[in-house]
Amino acid sequence: MTSKDKRTYDAIVIGSGASGGWAAKELCEKGLRTLVLERGRDVQHVKDYPTASKGMWEYELKGAVPLKDQLAYEGQRWMRADVMHWKVRNDEQAFIQEKPFHWFRGYHTGGKSLLWARQTQRWSDFDFEGPARDGFAVDWPVRYKEIEKWYTHVEKFVGISGKKDGIPELPDSEVQKPFDMTCLEDYFKESLKKHYGDKRHLIHARCAHLTEPKEIHFAQGRVKCQSQTMCNRGCNFGGYFSSNSSTLPWAQKTGKLTLRPDAIVHSILYDEKKSRASGVRIIDRHSGEEIDFYAKIIFVNASTINSNAILLNSKSSRFPNGLGNDNGLLGKYLSCHNYRGKGNAVYEGFTDKITSGRRPTNAYIPNFRNLQKQETPFLRGYASGISSGRPFNPERTDLIGSSLTDSILNPKYQGWYIASWMMGECVPVESNHMRLHESLKDKYGIPQIVLSVEWTENDDLMVKDYQEQTEEMFHRAGFSNINVRDTKSPPGSDIHEMGGVRMGHDAKTSLLNKWNQLHHCKNVFVTDGACMTSTGSQNPTLTFMMFTARAANYAVDELNRRNL
Ligand SMILES: Cc1cc2nc3c(=O)[nH]c(=O)nc-3n(C[C@H](O)[C@H](O)[C@H](O)COP(=O)(O)OP(=O)(O)OC[C@H]3O[C@@H](n4cnc5c(N)ncnc54)[C@H](O)[C@@H]3O)c2cc1C
Repeated sequence: MTSKDKRTYDAIVIGSGASGGWAAKELCEKGLRTLVLERGRDVQHVKDYPTASKGMWEYELKGAVPLKDQLAYEGQRWMRADVMHWKVRNDEQAFIQEKPFHWFRGYHTGGKSLLWARQTQRWSDFDFEGPARDGFAVDWPVRYKEIEKWYTHVEKFVGISGKKDGIPELPDSEVQKPFDMTCLEDYFKESLKKHYGDKRHLIHARCAHLTEPKEIHFAQGRVKCQSQTMCNRGCNFGGYFSSNSSTLPWAQKTGKLTLRPDAIVHSILYDEKKSRASGVRIIDRHSGEEIDFYAKIIFVNASTINSNAILLNSKSSRFPNGLGNDNGLLGKYLSCHNYRGKGNAVYEGFTDKITSGRRPTNAYIPNFRNLQKQETPFLRGYASGISSGRPFNPERTDLIGSSLTDSILNPKYQGWYIASWMMGECVPVESNHMRLHESLKDKYGIPQIVLSVEWTENDDLMVKDYQEQTEEMFHRAGFSNINVRDTKSPPGSDIHEMGGVRMGHDAKTSLLNKWNQLHHCKNVFVTDGACMTSTGSQNPTLTFMMFTARAANYAVDELNRRNL
């Protein structure tokens, strides 16, 4: 490490999660010696999934986490023993919620690609043309036609289950066969058709699970999803896509990848003479040592909020307010999805039917609001996730012997339930922002992040519409005990943070150009959620991965043309 040569690579990727893994794969495949810097510990596929095949009964407290052990994670969700190994302690990276914000982090190799719910729907021009049509944010510098082939590129490698639904506002993906719908979902689908014609659809959610693995997936060492539905522990089969099971081992096989875990990126170094970024400064998580690494190109994939923070902390004489931040917009227009609305109901019929087996995904109603023209008092729209089932209801817990066997073999089921959850597009506004605190530092001496994001009137109106429309759809389907509500959960609860380093045509109003390059520092590419100009209503990670693959290939071409 003492020699600068040994710390010099062709490319550096910051972060090894869903998008960073894609940058590593594409750059290594094209022959670039690539260093991936990851702030968390290393996690190797299979070897480091300690709970992957463990029964809940094998835990000391049947999967519960003692209160004293929860203190270090106060305010976080999912306090379960089977996933505690992915949790980030609150004192690992102190941050300030100027307004309430739930920030869900995954700091280890693979990032949140090990934790995600794997829902993957494409964007359409309804999304890319949204800001220009409806007059918010700035115009996206791309349209669907230009990026379509990159969606295909990513989907073929990842493996997506679903159907070709032929819905223009949710373009078809490259799919493998879907998981079945329940009889109640089939029924609800028909009810939507009957009452709303081709205006509302219930479809199989597209999700990153292998149902018909191809050669390319076997070559990654992955096999068919076993429907264990224990995905968030890490999957020994590689049945779902994660960086750990897919892109990182693929990059490793090229011999071009160096992965350095426990390397917290502090900032990007800027060479004033050459007017370009020269490398990255890290703090070693164990020794506290500062080390600089160098490369021709840098991909920033630390997840939205951390990518913003790294750029804000990358100060130089040329960029006193953060790298590329001439217009002062870095960290602004931070946005997320509106997951406040929830609904559930019951159905009296189908008492002769039960579900069989497990399903790692759900059904999905794509956005049906404001598609062709503005028709509501709020801008944009929302999709809904849908699930249903018949819970098994053990009537007695005190049975033993043959009566216990009998109750297990002849289980009593409750009636059918159906549940819905809202996934609304948030319209980015300048006041929703993040910045670095002037004096407070985290335990590594890096300025603390201040998050200042709140719901807008547009979000409130959208929740109201979701409630009314869900109630109406449930009612028309003949469901009863309908309960649709606004949970008032704070921003961030959707775990889809986006923006702050948005793409656009104009360097005066955006930070990145159409290739995800900083307008003012062309060898730095930001391709995670930070680049998002607007948020759509679709789960966004597929789009981050698509932009990453596209930008990485462009970067290599530009290097070959000697433009970088
Ligand atoms: C419970 C849950 C369910 C979700 N479900 C879905 C879903 O169904 N569909 C969907 O589209 N999205 C879903 N998401 C969101 C999805 O996980 C993220 O959008 C996606 O992982 C983002 O990819 P990324 O590469 O930007 O960040 P990440 O995957 O989070 O990776 C970022 C990496 O960067 C590292 N890092 C951070 N800071 C630094 C630093 N300073 N130096 C070095 N490394 C750093 C982190 O440790 C991490 O490994 C879900 C998320 C959660 C938590």
